[in-house]
Amino acid sequence: MNPTILRVALKAPLHELYDYLAPPGGPEPVVGQRVSVPFGRSERIGIIAALATTTPIAPERLKAAKQIIDPVPLLDRPLVELLNWAAAYYQHPPGEVFAAALPVALRKGQEALGASEARWRITDKGTAALDAAAIKAPVQKQVLQALHSGEHNSTALAAVHDGWQRAVRELQKKTFVAKFTAELPKVLPPDVPLKTGPQLNADQQQAVDQITPANSKTWLLDGVTGSGKTEVYLRLIEQQLDAGKQTLVVVPEIGLTPQLVSRFRERLATTVVVMHSNLNDTERTQAWLDASDGTAGVIIGTRSAIFTALNQPGLIVIDEEHDASLKQQEGFRYSARDLAVVRGKKLRIPVILGSATPSFETLANATAGRYERLRLPIRAGGASQPEVNLIDLQRYPATDGLTRPMIDAIGRHLSNNGQVLIYLNRRGFAPTLFCSSCCSCVECRRCDARLVVHQQRKLAVCHHCGFESRLPEVCPECSGELLPLGQGTERIETAIKNLFPEETIVRLDRDSTRRKGSIEQHLELIRGGHARILLGTQMLTKGHDFPNVTLVCVLDADQGLFGTDFRSGERLAQNFIQVSGRAGRADRSGEVWIQTLYPEHPQLQTLLNKGYAGYAEEGLAERQATAWPPYSHLALLRAESSSKDTLYEFLTAARALADQINPGGVRILGPASAPMERRSGRWRAQILLQAEHRPALQALLTSWRQHLVESPLSRKARWSIDVDPIELF
Ligand code: ADP
Ligand code: ZN
Ligand code: ZN
Repeated sequence: MNPTILRVALKAPLHELYDYLAPPGGPEPVVGQRVSVPFGRSERIGIIAALATTTPIAPERLKAAKQIIDPVPLLDRPLVELLNWAAAYYQHPPGEVFAAALPVALRKGQEALGASEARWRITDKGTAALDAAAIKAPVQKQVLQALHSGEHNSTALAAVHDGWQRAVRELQKKTFVAKFTAELPKVLPPDVPLKTGPQLNADQQQAVDQITPANSKTWLLDGVTGSGKTEVYLRLIEQQLDAGKQTLVVVPEIGLTPQLVSRFRERLATTVVVMHSNLNDTERTQAWLDASDGTAGVIIGTRSAIFTALNQPGLIVIDEEHDASLKQQEGFRYSARDLAVVRGKKLRIPVILGSATPSFETLANATAGRYERLRLPIRAGGASQPEVNLIDLQRYPATDGLTRPMIDAIGRHLSNNGQVLIYLNRRGFAPTLFCSSCCSCVECRRCDARLVVHQQRKLAVCHHCGFESRLPEVCPECSGELLPLGQGTERIETAIKNLFPEETIVRLDRDSTRRKGSIEQHLELIRGGHARILLGTQMLTKGHDFPNVTLVCVLDADQGLFGTDFRSGERLAQNFIQVSGRAGRADRSGEVWIQTLYPEHPQLQTLLNKGYAGYAEEGLAERQATAWPPYSHLALLRAESSSKDTLYEFLTAARALADQINPGGVRILGPASAPMERRSGRWRAQILLQAEHRPALQALLTSWRQHLVESPLSRKARWSIDVDPIELF
């Protein structure tokens, strides 16, 4: 019989799995177990990704694994399959892909047990000493007496006496006291009465009725903002809990608010755990273990939560499925949404993709019948859709970014006791610092980009590489006078303060929310009604609920109208609909006012007259005519180097290689410089692959990557492959 070969995912340089012999003796290894293996002169921990009976490694070089760590596999077979699939599909080293599925502590080999703590108890010898009144030192006596009544942890001992640590040390030396590790019981949901949800409307009910556990399809829940999508998730989760099943809910980074989490906790009779990048190692491990042993009925997390091991998977929900943060844009570049669909299929469970502005890919999948579409066309609780008005910037010139009609609308809504939301997707004071003498703008020395004026911090900042300098007083070229041109949120804040000195203004952007927890503090001011003007960037558009906002102001609709990416129109429409959706959510109807230089622009007109659905229909027809995704498939080889020559040497060779191995059916474009050719002092360029059918693209990519990894040129430039890129540049 052939020996068992373990194919191990290790965080190590090679793009492949590493083969080892099973450790001698012991039970048969299983896929998904962690294993420690010799690696070079040290030892590493990896995960068994596959088993085999043969290996290309020569017998004399094949080493035996040291030890299987888990008696029961840490990752179940469908999850291991998903990870193997993802490594192949995204052309990424399996070691790093598997690492993404585990918290650091477990990656390092920590036993997969629940939380534990140190405790102390009295020994028989200690009891005897106490009975014989043999302890003279008062603190030791006090501690021993306390332990006589039962075991104590450090907190309990600290309550006995401040000097407990020294006393316990002495008592341990005399073996009157023993220290041990106690496993902590699981944290169960507090035993408080749960809130009940509203009665579902007919559309919601229909969605709940259709998405039964047995109906393991991918569902598109296409519901306008405030239509009650979250209510639908909650009902379906309840059903899953009744059946003893778990639900995984993935939300955009900025959408994972304490507000959302408490809404789930107030309603569901289960442990709800949260997974996001701000957890410390212990918290993450605990949440992971609660999910994998089935303690948690609901797991809410950001994109990486898609890899959480589940004990009884029943349902996967991707909320705001169009959101760009569901795609990881560095390192292991995966789409949590697309992986959710793959995972759901492997598990044969339903997957729900929810959005008011579904991505064009998802819409095309629904039209093609691969996903089933459910609509929630009206707002729940009776709120109506806001009325939309355009302001022509040619006719009404703006001062500090604000036109007269806009200022009047703000004033009107404030005096009617409404709240106002002002949207401008540009942070800082002004995007350019312009010299009126030589007509140049102050630029970043390391990027092809202008420095942005940050007045409050008195800095000129590059938003691409993070470079910061003191605000120059005169033009660095000609010593002429410098003018800050254009508006960012900081400048609007100043202007609004001058116009409405009575009002408290909350500004929400990356600058005003650097501190942990500050987003929540800001939002609380608005929700509590202490502030009535909310100003900010795209951060505002993500799923927050502001029931008293009656007016939404879009200061610059033109930002996305002339984008270079084929997706800029789609993004513009999504932002636009999402931000408009913040108006008039509860029982108050809302208004949206938009400033634009191009009120007749066909994209704006389509969006206003036909809504998102009509806009998407036209947009998809255009994509089809021009063969962009979803009517073709893309992959991008991005590269950068501090030397332009090296960069193009690498990419030219890569291009030649791609031409050579192209099985046919893949268009190869480039190398072409990135639109921002220099960033952080490095030159950037790329090669784009476009194919009508995925298999041809995948075949080329797999062989291309292998050749590139082996090529000595590839060490000269930093490069990466992005499959299904969401930004082309
Ligand atoms: P979405 O997730 O689509 O934005 P939510 O589920 O958050 O929508 O619902 C928006 C608001 O409407 C919430 O305040 C919610 O409590 C309320 N709501 C949802 N469904 C109903 C319903 N059937 N009846 C009354 N109010 C509802
Ligand atoms: Zn100048
Ligand atoms: Zn820069």
